[in-house]
Amino acid sequence: MNSVRTITVLGAGTMGHGIAHAAAASGYDTRLYDVSPEQLEKARAEIEGILRKGVELGKAAAADADAALSRLSTSTDEATALGGTDFIIEAAPERMDLKLKLFADIERHAPAGAVIATNTSALSITEMAGSIANPSRVAGMHFFNPVQKMKLVEIVRALESSAATLETVETVARRMGKETVLVREAPGFITTRVNASIGNEAFYMLMEGVASARDIDKALKLGLNHPMGPFELVDLVGLDTRLSILEYLHRSMGEKYRPCPLLTQYVRAGRLGRKVGKGVYEY
Ligand code: NAD
Repeated sequence: MNSVRTITVLGAGTMGHGIAHAAAASGYDTRLYDVSPEQLEKARAEIEGILRKGVELGKAAAADADAALSRLSTSTDEATALGGTDFIIEAAPERMDLKLKLFADIERHAPAGAVIATNTSALSITEMAGSIANPSRVAGMHFFNPVQKMKLVEIVRALESSAATLETVETVARRMGKETVLVREAPGFITTRVNASIGNEAFYMLMEGVASARDIDKALKLGLNHPMGPFELVDLVGLDTRLSILEYLHRSMGEKYRPCPLLTQYVRAGRLGRKVGKGVYEY
């Protein structure tokens, strides 16, 4: 089994910075790579913010926060980020062409024995794995947003993921303090598929004038005990991310996942969620 000391996270956005924080805080030497230096700077500041907040709340000692930060390095150079690493977590935008390019780069720069985990929400991990010489070292490692608060990691077994790869992914997830479930690869795994369906249905209800966004959110929180309403959640996830997930589920599993026209319209209007200050709600 692969004994992991160094973790490389590819992509320093919403998910990547949270995953890098979890890795550094769990004692791994952590390298964060992004094409954008501004994004790396922002990610480092966000990680520092999470660590300082933990100290303020008495959840962590200042020395541990400092040690976690000292284990984190950032780079815009792929060879530096990947050379000699043990474990890679890919958290770049949800586009197959981009993921395939990153997998080719990983194969070029990282050791042949390094495990490759992808945080994709819905794309085929088997397709990514099939693009490299040894697909058995690839599996899905699906984190949730915000990473530091969410307990679950879905571990996804692609067609040829080896038992050793799955075991290594589980060991890393557990060391990060996460609970895991094992899923055979299927579009949207467990959570993305159910969540996309609920979110899409909520948009259809809004479009049909069944109830206001606030009342739909309130109903699911107070009536069904969901911690967040579907519109609060999609504003956090990003409406563009949700739309591309639904388009993929629709292509691969048919009509019941057709994206609601109102969701498409919101995306065209640039109402992408909290990250731009407006989605279903204004921030
Ligand atoms: P994001 O847009 O917030 O961040 C993506 C980052 O990747 C950006 O910083 C961007 O600069 C960088 N990037 C672009 N091209 C790159 C390249 N070639 N190499 C490395 N980095 C590159 O996206 P996100 O929401 O963090 O999503 C990342 C992945 O995680 C996607 O596959 C998504 O489906 C998945 N995911 C997202 C959520 C969520 O709630 N947002 C939850 C679970 C999984």
